[in-house]
Amino acid sequence: MSDARTTLLLTHSACLEHDAGEYHPECPDRLRAVLRALDDAEFAGLQRAEAPLATPEQLALAHPAEYVSAILGIRPGPREQVQIDADTAMNHASAEAAQRAAGAAVAAVDAVCGDGTARRAFCATRPPGHHAEPRRPMGFCFFANAVIAARYAQRAHGIGRVAILDFDVHHGNGTQACVEDDPTIFYASSHQWPCYPGTGHPKERGSGNVCNAILPPGADGAAFRAVWRDMLLPALNAFAPDLIVVSAGFDAHAADPLAELRVREADYIWLTERICEAADRFCGGRVVSLLEGGYDLRALADSAAAHVRCLMRG
Ligand SMILES: [Zn+2]
Repeated sequence: MSDARTTLLLTHSACLEHDAGEYHPECPDRLRAVLRALDDAEFAGLQRAEAPLATPEQLALAHPAEYVSAILGIRPGPREQVQIDADTAMNHASAEAAQRAAGAAVAAVDAVCGDGTARRAFCATRPPGHHAEPRRPMGFCFFANAVIAARYAQRAHGIGRVAILDFDVHHGNGTQACVEDDPTIFYASSHQWPCYPGTGHPKERGSGNVCNAILPPGADGAAFRAVWRDMLLPALNAFAPDLIVVSAGFDAHAADPLAELRVREADYIWLTERICEAADRFCGGRVVSLLEGGYDLRALADSAAAHVRCLMRG
């Protein structure tokens, strides 16, 4: 039986087969660690579903059709690999995995905005999406999953205003590039500065719909909470969204090897609670959360579990 308060977990085995090469930090073990944590008895109340394939038309909500067909057409043989950029590569399963990651975002929107089978959803998928620009895969990402979710909610479910909240330690240059001229979508990001990919200065405001908060290397959870409390959440409140999409990357964690912030599980819990409160106030509680980065397996699993626990409770 479905229940309007349920939280839906979407994933797919193809997301475990996408492999960008030995020693690549965006590795299948990341998703294994998250799924293992969510197998614990305390998560038995999650509704679970397989991520469908996003259709080319759905992927084209964020990308030109020729880009979509080019990426979906890259199908290396079983032991081959195609290097896309310095840190992004595709194997035999990558196109399907990317299509499932976007499809999970679409299905999550259907569940929380459509027939109301769930109030919140978490997509435990990879590859991530927030670095993918309209015409360029980048930074382990192929399709802008959060943007696809937002635009799909607008087109298929008549949702007006969508907020994308991104607490990954890296700026979501791809998400910003997709939405910066679209006042119906709000994008807020906290990220380390300076850091990859080099975008996300606070002066980058889009059409007034983009809000970037930067944190210096070494910044701790108190600093992380402060930029959300004092800057990003007030901007979210002013936007008054009808749906919240979260780019949930956990690489701001103190243990993460790819950046130098010192965020802890308790800080992710604090922020997820604030996000759920905002969703309750503005959007009937609707939150669609998508896994982005997070490269220390233990910190990633613990943080993602803490985040999902809040989604279920909140
Ligand atoms: Zn990241």
